[in-house]
Amino acid sequence: MAQIIDGKAVSAAVKQEVAEETAKLKEEKGIKIGLAVVIVGNNPASRVYVNNKKKACEAVGFQSFEYALDENTTQEQLLDLITVLNRDDRVNGILVQLPLPAHIDEKKVIDAISPDKDVDAFHAINVGKIMIGKYAFLPCTPAGVMRLIESTGTEISGKQCVVIGRSNIVGKPMAMLLLHKSGTVTICHSRTQNLKEICLGADILVVAVGKANFVTGDMIKEGAVVIDVGMNRLENGKLCGDVEFESAEKKASYITPVPGGVGPMTIAMLMKNTLTAAKQQAGIE
Ligand code: NAP
Repeated sequence: MAQIIDGKAVSAAVKQEVAEETAKLKEEKGIKIGLAVVIVGNNPASRVYVNNKKKACEAVGFQSFEYALDENTTQEQLLDLITVLNRDDRVNGILVQLPLPAHIDEKKVIDAISPDKDVDAFHAINVGKIMIGKYAFLPCTPAGVMRLIESTGTEISGKQCVVIGRSNIVGKPMAMLLLHKSGTVTICHSRTQNLKEICLGADILVVAVGKANFVTGDMIKEGAVVIDVGMNRLENGKLCGDVEFESAEKKASYITPVPGGVGPMTIAMLMKNTLTAAKQQAGIE
């Protein structure tokens, strides 16, 4: 039976580290750290995420600046706001909550954020830096996954790592981070053939598909570390991952639950990136 990886505990430890360093920076150098969170429209899930990010800012001692814009905000108005935030010294990090309404081009908005304040690490410059391994910010969800794997004491070097999903925000950077740690990485997607066989070879399996209970226990190698990034809302309102937990925990050595696994890590790593941004802008790192 697998040991459960406690994402809440690991994320609390990350936030504690950030809070301590934030307090020290304020006390010793008078630096105050600020995160601007921009939300456009009334998507209820986005509202929950934004509220959680604001709460996390308060918990670690950051100022948070919320910009809640109307659904009908134009792309130009949003780009103008980004320009203002790029120049605002109180703002060390800028986060634009995705998805944006259909009439706004997400890529244009992300690329308007100063790479130095791009704490989501979605800007093309930061994506390129991740590719060559010379990064300041890591994308929050994959970075959180790495920290969870690290918490199990599992050595990644030389291991067969399988990532299911190739999105720009999860799958691709996830694969890159595992590769930087010298894992032998396979990326799977909707056209992959023999998915079950590939998964059965995985010592470390990261699942980011967005389909409830997609990976079942018979696809998991005995003793594998299984990380479930998926967050799916079932008809009964319950949150569920991409991995069928009950059958998977019988095979895995370590497994993340949903909720309480990867989810809390994403916000903790966002706090860490904002701290890093503030230090770099102050010339400390
Ligand atoms: P996404 O952009 O929809 O990507 C899903 C990926 O899954 C795609 O690459 C797709 O392949 C692949 N896929 C779909 N069906 C497949 C199949 N039958 N076999 C193999 N691969 C298949 O999703 P995402 O943004 O990466 O997010 C994935 C999940 O993680 C979602 O549930 C999301 O809610 C969750 N998430 C959680 C957090 C967190 O903080 N916990 C953060 C971000 C995302 P193609 O490329 O071929 O279409």
